[in-house]
Amino acid sequence: MSADCLFCRIVAGEIPATVVLSTDTVVAFYDIAPQAPTHVVLVPREHEPHAVALAAAAPDVLADLFTAAGDVAKAEGVADSGYRLLFNTGENAGQTVFHAHLHLLGGGPLGALAGARPEPLR
Ligand code: 5GP
Ligand code: ZN
Repeated sequence: MSADCLFCRIVAGEIPATVVLSTDTVVAFYDIAPQAPTHVVLVPREHEPHAVALAAAAPDVLADLFTAAGDVAKAEGVADSGYRLLFNTGENAGQTVFHAHLHLLGGGPLGALAGARPEPLR
């Protein structure tokens, strides 16, 4: 638990969120600013700054995030229609909360993977 980390505080119940799934290792809740009709954020209870750090520190928990994502997709009714799972990692990816988290986006066509981006090198 990091006292100044937003997602640690949501996991601890200090900041309210609409939780859709909670396990021994993972908490999932609706994103406060959804970017798709279904937008759930899945976070490990353990604080790591990003997904790669989580993979190094606790690979089983990283796997738990994906298992939980499958359960959330079913519960939210998007398992068959399809959804996107992504980790923003670092500033250029748009990561704003430095507690590893997996975005689950679905509920309609999601468009291009990367959106606006710099000119390609070639
Ligand atoms: P990132 O940009 O770091 O990949 O994702 C952080 C996500 O957390 C964003 O999509 C943002 O909307 C969401 N978020 C930020 N603050 C809160 C909050 O207080 N509650 C909830 N439920 N989501 C939040
Ligand atoms: Zn944290």
